[in-house]
Amino acid sequence: MAIYTLPELPYDYAALEPVINPQIIELHHDKHHAAYVKGANDTLEQLEEARDKDAWGSINGLEKNLAFHLSGHILHSIYWHNMASPKDSGGGEPLAADGVGDLADAITESFGSFAKFKTQLTKAAATTQGSGWGVLAYEPVSGRLIVEQVYDHQGNVGQGSVPVLVFDAWEHAFYLQYKNQKVDFIDAMWAVVNWQDVAKRYADAKNRTPLITP
Ligand code: MN
Repeated sequence: MAIYTLPELPYDYAALEPVINPQIIELHHDKHHAAYVKGANDTLEQLEEARDKDAWGSINGLEKNLAFHLSGHILHSIYWHNMASPKDSGGGEPLAADGVGDLADAITESFGSFAKFKTQLTKAAATTQGSGWGVLAYEPVSGRLIVEQVYDHQGNVGQGSVPVLVFDAWEHAFYLQYKNQKVDFIDAMWAVVNWQDVAKRYADAKNRTPLITP
């Protein structure tokens, strides 16, 4: 019983050129993301089997795999929509004139300025050790936006925070094109950010009820 399914890309493989080449997008979506979807579904089946057999010898590994694959599926599903062609609507800054003024104001209130936010997220993503992500998240208890430096797909995050803009900093996201130059890749990523999508996710996140009162 597959619960999770691989979403279609919202554009063709070449849409993000020259920032990300088509070969990377094809492998990243069709192979890597697909593996997280399969992994999450397989792990749920293995947990069902463990319950049926009352066999718990692998519980630690199964719970870790569930968090890893499920988080990988969710982050990649957000990632594809967070990007748009640099020839179309991707890149720049969120501006009130583009209908994303609430997001622009929240970034300024939470980080001091767009430039300071951009530097913090760039540093967080570019300095991940091993595999990870740089994430802009809405933290509902404080009502602020925060930057998280995520380990793998699931570590180092605050409970209940909602990702609205995610930069994949795993080597599979850039190595075929940028080789070892992760900083160059993260710098280039800003030219494909889909601020309309980020603003919509921010508006949706603000409507959620916080898990606790401040
Ligand atoms: Mn990835």
